[in-house]
Amino acid sequence: MRKIILSLFLLVGMHTYAQSEADIYDIINNVSAERIGNDVAKLANFGTRHTLSDTVSDTRGIGAARRWIKSEFEQISSDCQGCLEVFYQKELIKKGTNARIVKDVEVVNVVAVKRGKKYPNRYVIMSGDIDSRVSDPTDFTSESPGANDNASGMAGTIEAARVLSKYDFESSIIFVGLSGEEQGLFGGKSLAAYAKEKGWEIIGILNNDMIGNITGVDGVVSNRDFRIFSEPVPPNETEEERRARRFYGGEVDGISRQLARYVHKTTRRFMPEMNPTMIYRLDRFGRGGHHRPFNDAGFAGIRIMESHENYTQQHQDIRTENGIAYGDVLEHVNFDYAAKLTAVNAINLASLAWAPPAPETVKIGGIVEPSAKLAWNEVEGASGYKIYWRDTTSPTWDHSRPVSNATSHTLEGIVIDNYFFGVAAVGANGFESLVVFPNQIMRD
Ligand SMILES: [Zn+2]
Repeated sequence: MRKIILSLFLLVGMHTYAQSEADIYDIINNVSAERIGNDVAKLANFGTRHTLSDTVSDTRGIGAARRWIKSEFEQISSDCQGCLEVFYQKELIKKGTNARIVKDVEVVNVVAVKRGKKYPNRYVIMSGDIDSRVSDPTDFTSESPGANDNASGMAGTIEAARVLSKYDFESSIIFVGLSGEEQGLFGGKSLAAYAKEKGWEIIGILNNDMIGNITGVDGVVSNRDFRIFSEPVPPNETEEERRARRFYGGEVDGISRQLARYVHKTTRRFMPEMNPTMIYRLDRFGRGGHHRPFNDAGFAGIRIMESHENYTQQHQDIRTENGIAYGDVLEHVNFDYAAKLTAVNAINLASLAWAPPAPETVKIGGIVEPSAKLAWNEVEGASGYKIYWRDTTSPTWDHSRPVSNATSHTLEGIVIDNYFFGVAAVGANGFESLVVFPNQIMRD
C-alpha cells in the first residue's frame, strides 16, 4: 500500500513538473499540421489584415483578425485552467510617421503569457505577425490574404501556445501576434519598449516570418530546409565593448548569435530530419522583420523562416501576368512544413524555459599560458555548468565539457588563442541556458 501511495505521488509530481527529453519528443508529436492549416485559412479569410484596414467588421480586416486571435488564446487558456494571461498591447501611431502611415492608427499586438513558476519575470518569446499587405503598402482595402506572410507564423505561434499550455515551466513564455510589421515594424518596436518599461528580463525572441513555403523561386523544393537569421553583435554595444572585441574576440558571438546556435543545436539533436541553416546576418539582404526592434533595444532575437522564398507570392496584388499567378494565397502554404517549424520553436521555447538562467559574468584568462581558464558567477537553480569551445572558424560549439559544483575551471592543454569559449548553466533536468561568451578578462 505504501508503495502504491508513493508511486501515485511520483506520478502526480511528474505530471506537474514534467520536464525531460521525452517531453521534447511529445511536444514535437503534438504539433498539429491540421490545426495550423485551419488557422492559416481562418486568417487568410479575413480578406485583408492590413494594419490600416477595417477594425469594426467581424469578418473582414485587422480588427476582426486580432479579436479572433485573442479569442483563440483565451480558449487555450480556458482549456488549461486559465494558464495564459491574454491582453492587447497597443500604441497610437500618427499619420505621417512614415510614408506608409497614411492615417492615424492604433497598432495592436495580442499577447499571451504562460507565467513561469520559478522565474516569472524571465521571458522567452515566440512571435508571428497579424498584418498583411499587397503590392502598394498603403493599399488597405484590396484582397490581401497574406497566407504565408505571415498567417503561417501567426498560426504557428497559436499552435505552439496550444501544445505548451499543457506544461509548467520555470521561466515565462510569451506567444505574441505583432501588428504594423509591413508599415515599419511598429508592433515589435512598441512591445520591445513595453518590455523595457516593465523591466522584463528577456532571454530571447524567436520571430517567425514566413514558415510555410517549400517551393522556392530558385527552383528548389524542400520541406526540410529552414533559416535562422541572427546579427553578429548587438547594435547598441558601447565603444568600449567594440574596442575590446579587437583584442579578445566576439565578432561573431553576440547574444542573438548564441540564440541562433542554441536553436540550431536543439533542432539537430531532437529533429534530425530538419536542415537548419544559420545565416550570419540580421535579416535577408535589405529586408526587415520583427526581431529587429528587439535587437535595437538590446535583446537577443532571431528570425526563423523558410529557406526557399517565392517572391511572386509575397506583397503582391492577386493577379495573373505573363502566365504567372501572383499573390500570397492559401494554396501555396505547406502545413506539414509549417508544423515542423512550429515544433522547432516549441522545443526551443520549452528547453529555454526549463533551463536555469545563464551566468551573467563569464571571465576568461590564460594569456601566454598553456591552458585556458574560465570562471563564472554561481547561478541559483543550476546543478552544474558546461564549458563550450570551438575552432575560431567554426559556426557551432563543437566541444564541451560538463563541470559540476564549481564556478571555475582550467582547460588543461587548450591554448586560449586558438579557440573561442563560452559557458552555459545546466539544470537538474538536463536543460541548458544559452551559452555566454566571456565578458570579463582575468589577468592572473
Ligand atoms: Zn512581409
